[in-house]
Amino acid sequence: MQGSCCCGAVKFELTAPPSMMGTCHCSRCRKVGAGSLVFVKKDDIKWISGRDQIATYEPSPPYKYARCFCKVCGTSLGEILSDENSFPINAHVLDEDPGVRNQFHEFVAEKPAWYDICDDAKQFEAHPVQA
Ligand SMILES: [Zn+2]
Ligand SMILES: [Zn+2]
Repeated sequence: MQGSCCCGAVKFELTAPPSMMGTCHCSRCRKVGAGSLVFVKKDDIKWISGRDQIATYEPSPPYKYARCFCKVCGTSLGEILSDENSFPINAHVLDEDPGVRNQFHEFVAEKPAWYDICDDAKQFEAHPVQA
């Protein structure tokens, strides 16, 4: 399965499908054009091109997640350069159906009034908590 940014500078391949999908409604994801995220493993990303075209927006406390994006076209790439073993990237960068479907909504408390949730996935006011 391949992933790419809007202009095509950034291209990679996933050697295994993402493990799950979730949708974040927080104000930061909204501003960077994120939202639906899929969780991938670092070892499953094979770079084809453009890794050096990715810039990172570093968070200031209390936020702790960096945001990667294509320096050319601005496509939001999630935490694709993270050092963690597993991390979220934006579902919209995948060029094929990842198979997984949305399993939860987080930061529903920050959801804008103009966005209606139209699926039955579990909703969390902020970060998901274990039941
Ligand atoms: Zn691009
Ligand atoms: Zn968010």
